Amino acid sequence: MTIRPAERRPDQIHPALALVAHDKKKDDLVAFAVTHQAKLSDFDLYATGTTGSRILDAVPSLPVTRLKSGPLGGDQQIGSLIAEGRIKGLIFFVDPLTPMPHDVDVKALMRLGALYDIPMALNRSTAELLIAHPDAFLQTT
Ligand code: PGA
Repeated sequence: MTIRPAERRPDQIHPALALVAHDKKKDDLVAFAVTHQAKLSDFDLYATGTTGSRILDAVPSLPVTRLKSGPLGGDQQIGSLIAEGRIKGLIFFVDPLTPMPHDVDVKALMRLGALYDIPMALNRSTAELLIAHPDAFLQTT
């Protein structure tokens, strides 16, 4: 796990969001992160490996912790952080048209998001709704 030190209020733990995008959706998620960088910077962000690299290339100031790449276990790491109560929301731009070798991991991640009742956006229009009301991410238990 690569920890990128946040440069703001290091004494405080911020609410955490996860950001993931399948390959054909990564450009969309990067554009989303650029557009909403001010709101996203209020959260600690966790991303799967390649998604995290792409976001940091575009917005180096965002406090992104990069986990493993999705096919190598990154989706499961995010699921674990949801189960532990650390991650309060998931923005996952999925590609519904491409078969994935780690489909079972993606399904498991969505199952945990549903189980722990966290706000979970699987496409950009839902992500736009959630980021317009960032307090929604703080209302889960
Ligand atoms: P990646 O993983 O960000 O490392 O590409 C995302 C995924 O495919 O689950």
